[in-house]
Amino acid sequence: MATRPASRQRRAGHSSAAAGPKGPHQQQLPQSGSPTSTTTTTTSSSRLTPELSLDGPVSPLFAGLDEDPTPKENVTVTVRFRPLSPREIRQGEEVAWYADGDTVVRSEQNPSVAYAYDRVFAPTTTTRHVYDVAAQHVVSGAMEGVNGTIFAYGVTSSGKTHTMHGDQRSPGIIPLAVKDAFSIIQETPNREFLFRVSYLEIYNEVVNDLLNPAGQNLRIREDPQGTFVEGIKEEVVLSPAHALSLIAAGEEHRHVGSTNFNVLSSRSHTIFTLTIESSPCGESNEGEAVTFSQLNLIDLAGSESSRAETTGVRRKEGCYINKSLLTLGTVISKLTDGKATHIPFRDSKLTRLLQSSLSGQGRVSLICTVTPASSNSEETHNTLKFAHRAKRIEIQASQNK
Ligand code: ADP
Ligand code: MG
Repeated sequence: MATRPASRQRRAGHSSAAAGPKGPHQQQLPQSGSPTSTTTTTTSSSRLTPELSLDGPVSPLFAGLDEDPTPKENVTVTVRFRPLSPREIRQGEEVAWYADGDTVVRSEQNPSVAYAYDRVFAPTTTTRHVYDVAAQHVVSGAMEGVNGTIFAYGVTSSGKTHTMHGDQRSPGIIPLAVKDAFSIIQETPNREFLFRVSYLEIYNEVVNDLLNPAGQNLRIREDPQGTFVEGIKEEVVLSPAHALSLIAAGEEHRHVGSTNFNVLSSRSHTIFTLTIESSPCGESNEGEAVTFSQLNLIDLAGSESSRAETTGVRRKEGCYINKSLLTLGTVISKLTDGKATHIPFRDSKLTRLLQSSLSGQGRVSLICTVTPASSNSEETHNTLKFAHRAKRIEIQASQNK
C-alpha cells in the first residue's frame, strides 16, 4: 500500500516497489525504514520536479568515480587525516601516524602498529574526494529509497566539522550531499521528489530541535514503522540554498543556553536529516511506488577521553558522550558482522534515533578524522582502534611492515 501526499504515510514500510520502466535511479527500489514525525504540512505543489528544483545546471559530481570506485558494502569505515596545523608546526610537532595506502601506520614504534580500513585519506585529500569515495553512494542510495547515514567521528579539532560542514572554500559533505540530491532530481525526469529537512542535537542524552528553539528535550517514540522524534520540526526544502540556510539558522540556535559555543559544539552530536519521498510522475501512476528514505548526516561529539575532566559538568558530559559513542561502535561492528545477534540500539539516544536507518539495508559510512600530530598520538590511536573495531579489515601481507 502506498498513499499520496494528501493523506501521506510518512513512514517507510508503506512503500511499494516501482513498476514499469526503470530510469537510472529506479532499479528495484528497496523498501526502507524511515523514522519521521512532523509538524509540517505540505502540498503537492511543493513537490520537486526537475524544472522546479535547481537553480543551476547539474554539477558534475559523478565525474571520476569510475577511476576511483566507491566501496560498495553497506558499511564503510574510512580514516581522514588532516594536515598539521600552523600551530602544531610552530610547536615542532612530529608526525606520529601516517597513511600508507589504505593502512594507517604508527611512526614512533618499532615494530610499527598498523590498521587497515576501506580507505585512508591523506592530509592533502580534498573533501570533494572524500565525498566521492565515502558519501556519494550513500546519497545516491537514499535517492533510490535506501536509508543512509554518514558519521564524522574523532576528537575535537581532528576535522569532523571541516569534513561535514566545511566552509565557502571547501564545502563539506552536508552541502555536497544536498547539492547532489538536487542534481539527481534533474537526472530523474520520470519521478517527482519531496524533500524535508530536520536538524537536531543530542546534548547529555537530551534531544533538542535546532530548527525550532521551543523544541527542547524532545521524546523519541516508537511505532511499528520504527523510531521517531516526537514533535520535531521538518521543513520542506525547494533548493540547496534553502536547505543550507536552515542549517545556518540551526547553528545559531545552538548558541541558546550556552556561554561557550565551541565547548557545546564539541560536546553534542548534531544530526541533519534529509527525508526523501519520491513517486513516479504523472497521474496515471497515482498511488504507485511511493518510496521514503532518510539521509542522516552526523557531526559527532568529540571522542576525547574524559578521564582528565575535573568539573562535574564536564565529567557528566563525558560519560554521556562515551556511552553513546561506545554504543555506536558496538552497533556498527554488529551491523558489519552481519550476524543476527542482539544489536543494542536502545543503549543510547543516538543509536535509538537512528535505529530504522541503520538496520536493514541502510548504508552507513563512518568517517574517522585524525591529526598526525605526536601530541595527540594516543587519542588518535583510540580513534583508530574505534574505527578498526567498527569494521575489522585484515592487513594484506604486502602492506604489512
Ligand atoms: P572538529 O570539528 O573535529 O573539532 P574542526 O573541523 O573544527 O575539528 O577542525 C579543526 C581545525 O582544523 C579547523 O580550523 C579546520 O579548518 C582545520 N581542518 C580540519 N580538517 C582539515 C583538513 N582536512 N584540511 C585542512 N584543514 C583542516
Ligand atoms: Mg566540530
